[in-house]
Amino acid sequence: MICFKTEEEIEIQRKSSLLVGKTLAEVARHLKPGVETIALDRIAETFIRDHHAIPGFKGYGGFPGSLCISVNDQVVHGIPGKTILKDGDIVSIDCGVLMNGFYGDSAYTFAIGEVSEEIRLLMQRTKESLYKGIEAAIEGNRIGDIGYAVQSHVEQYGYGVVRELVGHGVGRKLHEAPEVPNYGRKGNGTRLRTGMVIAIEPMVNLGARYVFQEDDGWTIRTKDGSPAAHYEHTVAVRAGKADVLSSFEEIESVIKNMNG
Ligand code: MG
Ligand code: MG
Repeated sequence: MICFKTEEEIEIQRKSSLLVGKTLAEVARHLKPGVETIALDRIAETFIRDHHAIPGFKGYGGFPGSLCISVNDQVVHGIPGKTILKDGDIVSIDCGVLMNGFYGDSAYTFAIGEVSEEIRLLMQRTKESLYKGIEAAIEGNRIGDIGYAVQSHVEQYGYGVVRELVGHGVGRKLHEAPEVPNYGRKGNGTRLRTGMVIAIEPMVNLGARYVFQEDDGWTIRTKDGSPAAHYEHTVAVRAGKADVLSSFEEIESVIKNMNG
């Protein structure tokens, strides 16, 4: 069952979603070679709690972290720990917060130091595919239109779109109906209507689309060992133009400052 949100609820959810962006920006300030991923998790947890919110992932299904931190061939759901970031890594960081009864959910893939041109393009095109998906998230379209937009954008470059994990409705629960796959056919699936709030989150592999779960019960890796990128926004469906509730603005201003 889809939980439709009122305008008031969407505004509450915008605040939760914006706090996710601020948290990721705070984490971004500490991204450099030599940092342990558990240290990033602590920074995020403290930042979220200082803003009178609750880390949305901590304890979710038993997940131990406040962030999912997935390095290189890890696609999503990486557990923060003793992994040390090094120059040339790419790191996907996914964050959720619960504030005033509503979740925000957003993710960004960062380059550590200098990455290859191939990886830089993977990141750029995966982020582009997120915005293609968002363009399709308008009243009267269907869920399949979002998946089609994402899939057709990245597959033209020969990338693999992960199918085992999908976007989702988000609200009072972190994961609500409907599922929002990153693949699909135009005109297929649930009709989109104002009041739906969904997390759109392309997971894209440089190589083939196949993935497996590590023995830790969480971490998803590419089967062929190729690197993967993951970007996510929380989005309210509207007529004409989707309303992006989360933001990359602060994250990208931190990245810009660090690079120059
Ligand atoms: Mg997420
Ligand atoms: Mg999500």
